[in-house]
Amino acid sequence: MESILVLTHADETGSALTKASLETVTAGLELAARLKAPLTIGIVAVDSGIASATLAETGARLLTVSGEAFAQARYASDAAAVEAICRAANATIVLVPGTSRFTRVAAGVAHRLGGYIDTHITALGGAEAVEATRWFYRQRVEAIVNRSARPWFLLLDAGTHAAFAAQPGTASVEHITVDLPALRTTVSGFRAPQQDQQTIRPDAKMLFVAGAGWTKKQPDGQIHAAEAGDLILSFLAATGASLGSSKSLVDQGGEGEPVLPFLTHMNQIGQTGSTPRHAKGLSTCCHGEEPHVVGWRFISDRRAISLDPNCGWTRGKADVVYIADAFPVLAKVNALLKAAKA
Ligand SMILES: Cc1cc2nc3c(=O)[nH]c(=O)nc-3n(C[C@H](O)[C@H](O)[C@H](O)COP(=O)(O)OP(=O)(O)OC[C@H]3O[C@@H](n4cnc5c(N)ncnc54)[C@H](O)[C@@H]3O)c2cc1C
Repeated sequence: MESILVLTHADETGSALTKASLETVTAGLELAARLKAPLTIGIVAVDSGIASATLAETGARLLTVSGEAFAQARYASDAAAVEAICRAANATIVLVPGTSRFTRVAAGVAHRLGGYIDTHITALGGAEAVEATRWFYRQRVEAIVNRSARPWFLLLDAGTHAAFAAQPGTASVEHITVDLPALRTTVSGFRAPQQDQQTIRPDAKMLFVAGAGWTKKQPDGQIHAAEAGDLILSFLAATGASLGSSKSLVDQGGEGEPVLPFLTHMNQIGQTGSTPRHAKGLSTCCHGEEPHVVGWRFISDRRAISLDPNCGWTRGKADVVYIADAFPVLAKVNALLKAAKA
């Protein structure tokens, strides 16, 4: 019979669990109910009090590793913490949130336990055995993976399950002591762009995509890159949307053509870019070619604004296409958003 361990960790507050961790809890609860298997949840946090209260209602066995050593992501301490939890739980299936913190250590810990790992899991199925779903070849082929080897570690992609939410309760918790190895890495702090400069927001409800049209000659024969930049940044500030780009637009910088200075290849969506998960997407000044649209696989409601009535979006790739000039449309939308906020 299977036994399931869900691994979780705290966010930068040191005590509240990350959203991806809470999503993995949901996946663990569903799988445990389906397989009628016992469920253990492991928590890594500076102070695990809030996290364990949040998880009390799951009814799962709770194992915690806490202390200042686990305030920051660091391979040696995180791997030791996760290994200690795994050894205490002795589970056959280990569900891990695909956060940068745990993605870094999961394969190493699987190796220490003589287990196997699969990554980018998007769904868990199977009534008798565990069937893990993931995409291959840039989200073009979906496969169902099963393995007989145990323990089997499964790294879950963020955004694939609802985050677990319940009233905090009183939980009985088992604290695990970790024998830390010599720590050679000292984390001195984070250096990150300010929130309003950070345009990639995986948790946003909406993806806004800018295409190369924003920096092309417009009907008046002129390029309006600065105006385009202002319109896009105003829209992002008003909506909190995440900013994506077509490849053509971010490639232009290398060719000495006008660019939007806040875009990098990190924003690129598509076959050679990313495949984010958002409830809605709005594409602007982008042609909707297949290598770009393949990155929209997980966007539920797709809309596009393009001047071209024959663009790829109009050929069945978007739910709604507005054949219009994106400059005045976005100016009007921004004005409406501003009025609504006032
Ligand atoms: C191997 C390979 C991998 C690739 N990977 C990717 C990838 O990961 N991501 C990606 O994006 N592309 C990728 N591409 C490139 C892709 O095929 C397209 O070339 C690219 O997506 C086109 O970008 P675009 O639509 O922004 O630009 P364009 O094709 O130049 O389209 C600009 C659009 O803007 C419209 N427009 C202009 N002005 C306005 C206005 N004022 N209002 C409204 N609309 C306006 C025009 O009508 C036009 O439709 C890849 C290609 C290859 C060969």
